[in-house]
Amino acid sequence: MIQAEIKSLLREDISILIKTANSGKHYLCDCGEASLLTVKEAQAVSALFISHTHIDHFSNFDGIFRHQIGSGEKVVIAGPKNIHHQVEARLKSYTWNLINEKAIEYEIREIMSPEEINVYVIRPPHWNLELVKTQSFLFEDEQIKVDFAILDHKTDSIAYLFQEKDSVTFHEEASGFKKGKWISELKTAFENNEINREIEIEGTEYKASDLFHLLTRNEGYKLGVIMDHAVGKENYEKIKTVFKEADLVYIESFYKDSDQEFARLNYHSFASASGTVMKDCQVKEAVPIHFSRRYTESDVSEIETAFFKAFRGN
Ligand SMILES: [Zn+2]
Ligand SMILES: [Zn+2]
Repeated sequence: MIQAEIKSLLREDISILIKTANSGKHYLCDCGEASLLTVKEAQAVSALFISHTHIDHFSNFDGIFRHQIGSGEKVVIAGPKNIHHQVEARLKSYTWNLINEKAIEYEIREIMSPEEINVYVIRPPHWNLELVKTQSFLFEDEQIKVDFAILDHKTDSIAYLFQEKDSVTFHEEASGFKKGKWISELKTAFENNEINREIEIEGTEYKASDLFHLLTRNEGYKLGVIMDHAVGKENYEKIKTVFKEADLVYIESFYKDSDQEFARLNYHSFASASGTVMKDCQVKEAVPIHFSRRYTESDVSEIETAFFKAFRGN
């Protein structure tokens, strides 16, 4: 299962760490201050997902790469238009004469549109950007794939959906056959919908689709992170397309309802607006995040109350 941990304290900016059950690899959403993020966790981050580069979401990028350099790993950084230049500028602002070119490799994925991702590579010590290719998907590894929506926050703000891959369960008791390599062949046929594939069990050939009843598909867990966005129909249509029926979504609720005029002026959301869009998306669970730094604990409880009232209707 995918799990998220908010690594920022109240009045700190936002940073959310995402972990999966079967892997030591982590993913980090935004680089605000993150007092609760340990060095070990920062070192285990294999991909950073940046919503946008307002300072409250990007100021701790240096703190993260400081712990990653020397690992020799390839780390992915996904983000909005121009993210490659902003990463380059941050990296080039230090002196790297003692670091060699194998210390790390960043692969930057600049989100131009829903179907167009520019992929750059940048390495120490000179950190010169190299455009490698343009691809049509954002991110996929052995554990997860990541979908996204490009929201309006007076600048692009990327909302990410982390999806665990679907898994297939084999019902051994129901089969009556001896175990063998045919089980993995059958699973492959099931995953690729090869209904006519011949599966040999104990010397007899079976049509794959006649055995599909021995398998069940378990849909992977879906966890969303929606950072800064303006309240409005266009953003909400995009949110509903990508995050519909997700298991758990963290969503920016920067202002209290009584401050919704500030939300409008700053292209942000407010408590009940975020709760309502989560309800309309029919997500199973939703959590409001990223509150104005001037708010006290009681202001935050006010946000949570209004958010859950709109989301759950109580
Ligand atoms: Zn912002
Ligand atoms: Zn923000």
